[in-house]
Amino acid sequence: MFKIGCHLSIGKGLFNASKEIKQINGNTFQFFSRNPQGFKQKEYDDVDYKKYIKFNQENNILAPLCHAPYTLNCCSKDERVRELAKMILEADLKRLNLYANPMYNLHPGAHTGQGVEKGIELIAKTLNEVVKEDEKTIILLELMAGKGSDIGRSFAEIKAILDKLIYKEKFGVCLDTCHVFAAGYDIVNNLDGVLQEFDQIIGLDKLKAIHLNDSKMPFNSNKDRHAALGEGYIGLEAIYRIINHPKLKDLPMYLETPHDDISGYGKEIALLREHYNE
Ligand code: FE
Ligand code: FE
Ligand code: ZN
Repeated sequence: MFKIGCHLSIGKGLFNASKEIKQINGNTFQFFSRNPQGFKQKEYDDVDYKKYIKFNQENNILAPLCHAPYTLNCCSKDERVRELAKMILEADLKRLNLYANPMYNLHPGAHTGQGVEKGIELIAKTLNEVVKEDEKTIILLELMAGKGSDIGRSFAEIKAILDKLIYKEKFGVCLDTCHVFAAGYDIVNNLDGVLQEFDQIIGLDKLKAIHLNDSKMPFNSNKDRHAALGEGYIGLEAIYRIINHPKLKDLPMYLETPHDDISGYGKEIALLREHYNE
């Protein structure tokens, strides 16, 4: 079954987001755990939550993916920033445990001048302090485009983090098509080769979700600028190969393309459904 959705605001609650995703013929969605640029979080709303669960069951809406705020940095050189990241992670995971376990997607962090090795060490340290044996949520490390001092620009960097984690089975990887293309993985001309490399370095069993975006910036540019499908350097043909690749086609896929309203996502979902081979 094609698991396809897009990023949605949960400003009007989870139930509303589920209704929206059904309206545009998706069956999963992604939401921010709290304000992506800040840290404000909505209060837990049990009435909303119960309506959402019932609606999802009746309409075959799958568990969504929760995205951590961009401002969270597990490997800042500033200890207070790392402490704040820990607090946010703890609070987010606690909340997600009330939500019938969506997965939780995280940008690994930016080393802010300390170097990649130190950054990787701090990310693993932060995650190891937060994620305990009884954690029920699967935490995904997102592959990054490679801007600034962002960690996670290569399969090797992600693998280095995973290797240092205590509870490895609680972690996976999210592949953002825009990010990996900008990071220099040629998913347009050599998708098989890229996935083979992923398998050799990280292991494809660790790949749990896809962020499906085109890229406004060229291959290997290390710039993170999402484009609507077909309006960037990746192009629709490559996107269709991605959604139908035997190693990817069963993974949940989330659009994070720029649109003024959800009808833009609706058009993309319709196009993708037309080209997806069940
Ligand atoms: Fe992201
Ligand atoms: Fe992404
Ligand atoms: Zn991005």
